[in-house]
Amino acid sequence: MNRKYRKTVIAGNWKMNMLASEIKPFMEQLKENMPKTRPCDVVLCTPAVMIPAMLKAGKDCKVAAGAQDVSKHEKGAYTGEISASQLADIGAKYCIVGHSERREYHGEDDMLINAKTKALLEKGIAPIICVGESLEQREMDLTMEHIAYQVKAALSGIDASQLRRCIIAYEPIWAIGTGKTATAEQAQEVCQGIRAVIRGIYGARPARAVSILYGGSMNAANAEELLAQPDIDGGLIGGASLKPADFATIVKATEQGA
Ligand code: PEP
Repeated sequence: MNRKYRKTVIAGNWKMNMLASEIKPFMEQLKENMPKTRPCDVVLCTPAVMIPAMLKAGKDCKVAAGAQDVSKHEKGAYTGEISASQLADIGAKYCIVGHSERREYHGEDDMLINAKTKALLEKGIAPIICVGESLEQREMDLTMEHIAYQVKAALSGIDASQLRRCIIAYEPIWAIGTGKTATAEQAQEVCQGIRAVIRGIYGARPARAVSILYGGSMNAANAEELLAQPDIDGGLIGGASLKPADFATIVKATEQGA
């Protein structure tokens, strides 16, 4: 982390989990376990339908709402889609785009991810843009080449003032939901590489100000070491964000160097 130049963000990704009836007890437990002074920005990316209930149940918990996906379209005949203005309207401040599960199961490509990123920025929602390599790409030494391509494609046509509101999440696909975490060195190396790619496009100052998160089996036990890396400015957390005490422990792990 480097608090001098950029925000630290801990974002949970509930994926397609939880029921409305479980939100209140979850938020109560989260509040009990959270540090009294918040050391970072905390976000919960819930299923969109749960955002109002999460905000209501957590109103004194200082947790911002995030969504997990958005339509690239502004409005109209797109059955099943949710627009950026609809997300903003129910209180979403952040939205994940390009998660590997959406790339893999819904065929999302880099052009679509770029369009979704722009749709979010237009409505004042901070995109959390996910990038990451497969195990095969890592083994073939293609990690940085692949990630540089994904970062450049996602940010295509986005100017420096809009970049300030973007967050990048490095999520190696082989580490998501597998219990296999990238080592702190591996994660730092790629996050530093992502910052170098951004520096190449926008220059040193904008690159220094972008928050880059690590995601992939981050948990209460390994968060501190990962967050101690200079280019890792927080985490995108799946499984452990469903356990309020563990999620709060990850938030506490950002107290180091505060
Ligand atoms: C994710 O899905 O974004 C994620 C990082 O999941 P997990 O923490 O469960 O690996």
